[in-house]
Amino acid sequence: MSEGAAKKEEKPRKFQAIRGTRDLLPPETALWNRVEQTAHEVFSNFGFGEIRPPIFEATELFARSVGSETDIVSKEMYTFVDRSEKLEPQPVIGSMDVFLQRVKQLYKSGEIPQDEIGLELVEKQWRKVDDLLKGASNIESGAIEIYELIMLFEALRLGGDVSLRPEATASVCRAYIEHNMQQLPQPVKLYYMGPMFRRERPQKGRYRQFYQIGAEVLGGSDAPAIDAEVIEMVMMFFDRLELQGVRLDLNSIGCRECRPKYVELLRAELLKVKDKLGPDSQRRIETNPLRVLDSKLESEQGIIATLPRIADHLCEDCAAHYAAVKHQLEMRGVIYRENWRLVRGLDYYMRTTFEITAQGLGSQNAVCGGGRYDGLVELLGGPPTKGIGFAIGEDRLILSLQESGKAPAQQGRDVYIAWMGERAHATAIRAAKDLRKAGFSVELPPVEQKFGKALGQADKLGAKHALILGDNEVSEGLWTLKTLADGSQLKLPEPALIEHLRKSKAVSS
Ligand code: ATP
Ligand code: MG
Repeated sequence: MSEGAAKKEEKPRKFQAIRGTRDLLPPETALWNRVEQTAHEVFSNFGFGEIRPPIFEATELFARSVGSETDIVSKEMYTFVDRSEKLEPQPVIGSMDVFLQRVKQLYKSGEIPQDEIGLELVEKQWRKVDDLLKGASNIESGAIEIYELIMLFEALRLGGDVSLRPEATASVCRAYIEHNMQQLPQPVKLYYMGPMFRRERPQKGRYRQFYQIGAEVLGGSDAPAIDAEVIEMVMMFFDRLELQGVRLDLNSIGCRECRPKYVELLRAELLKVKDKLGPDSQRRIETNPLRVLDSKLESEQGIIATLPRIADHLCEDCAAHYAAVKHQLEMRGVIYRENWRLVRGLDYYMRTTFEITAQGLGSQNAVCGGGRYDGLVELLGGPPTKGIGFAIGEDRLILSLQESGKAPAQQGRDVYIAWMGERAHATAIRAAKDLRKAGFSVELPPVEQKFGKALGQADKLGAKHALILGDNEVSEGLWTLKTLADGSQLKLPEPALIEHLRKSKAVSS
C-alpha cells in the first residue's frame, strides 16, 4: 500500500468530552435557563447583585481559604503554572554570552524582579559563570553553575501557580477586599452562577465540571436575621421552582472559642471507641474528628448516636445566636430540621451551618450547602468582616426537577410557515419577520416543500400552528392558519394574524 493510501484509510480521531464533563444540550438547556432566570429574579427581589468572578485564581487563594488540608485543595483542584509573559521570548540559551546579556538586561529593566531570586540569579550565579568564561574558575564546577543559572532563569519564567476555581466563596471574598467593598453600604449582598471544577470520581450528580448558584452576605453584622433571610431566600427559590422533597437541615458549629473544646472532647470520646470504627473514621480522629459525624457507614451509626453533641457545648454567645437564628426562621415560616451531625470540615466555618436535600438524587442528594464564615475575609488580608453564604449544586437541582417531572416540556415553535412558490416565499419572509418581532417563535423552511411534507415537519417540531402560504393565499390576501393539535383551519387577512395568535397564546398559557 502506498503511503498516500495508508493516510486515506487512517480515520481522524473522534473526540469526546473529557471524563466528568458533559455537553448541556437543548431541550435541557431551556430548563437550565429557567432555573437561572428564576435565581436572578428571586435574588434581586432580596436586594442581591450579581458578581462574575474569573474562573481561575491564584492557587494560594484557595489553599488559604478552603484550606490546604482539605480534599478539595489537596487532591481535586485543576492546577497549572502560568508562564510569565514578561520573560518571553525565550533567550538564546545556546550562546552563553547572549544568554548572560539577556539576563542582565532583564534584571536592569526590572523584568527579572530585583528581589532575592533576582539577586541570586544575576549577582552571584551570573558572576560565577562570567568568571568561568574568563577562565578564572574550573570547568567541572562551572558546568553546574551554568545549569543552575539556566534553571533559575527558567523558574523565573514560570509565573504564578493558578487553579480553576473549585468553589466561588474565596473569589467573592477576594473581590470584596480588592474593590474596597467595605466602603459600600453594608452588608454587601452578592450572588453568582457558573462552572466549578473538582477532580472527583464522576457519578450521578457528581461531575468534574459542575455548576453552582450561590450567594454571599458580607459586612459588619452577624445579626441572626441575616442568616435567616439568606436561608429564606434559598427556600423561596426552590419553592418557586417547585423542587420536590426539599428538606432543610440546620446546625451551629460554634466559634473559635467553643468549637476547639468540643472537638477535643469529641476526640477523647472517639479514642475510647476507636476499635469499633472504620479506617476512615479512625484516621479522622486525628485529622478532623468533626468529619466522623458525617460518616454514612452503617456499622458506625450506633456509636455516633452516643457521642457528645455540639449544641450542648456552645459558648453563651453561640448558643444565643443559634437560638435567635431558629426564632428568625420561625418568624419567616421556614421549616427546618435540627441536625447535630451536620458539620463543615473547614476551619473558617462557624456558627450557622445548613444543608438542603431534595428527592430523586440517590446518595448525592445535597442540593445546597451553606454557612457562616466570619473570619474568612480577614484571613485573606481584608478588614474584620462577617460573612454567610450558600452554594447550590445546579446540576443536582436540575436532575431533581427532571426526576419529579417538573421540567417543562420542550418549547415548540409557535408557527411553522409552509410556503410554495416564488411570491409566497417573499411573503413568508416578511411574515416571519413580523411574527418574530411580535415575539413568536417561527420556523421558516429555507427551501420550498410540498405542503404535505411541510405539515409533517411542523408536527415533528411540535409547532402549534402552520401558516400556509401558496399562490392563492398571496393573491387573495387571505392566509390559512392551521392549528396542528385539532387540525382546524382558519382564513385570516394578514393584519388579523398577529392579534389572533396573541389571543390563542394567552388562552393556552
Ligand atoms: P458533597 O458532600 O455532595 O460532595 P460538598 O460538601 O463537597 O458536597 P459544597 O462544596 O458544599 O459540596 O458545594 C455545594 C453544593 O455543590 C453541593 O451541595 C452539591 O449540590 C454541589 N456539588 C459539589 N460538588 C459537586 C460535584 N462534583 N458535582 C456536582 N455538584 C457538586
Ligand atoms: Mg464534595
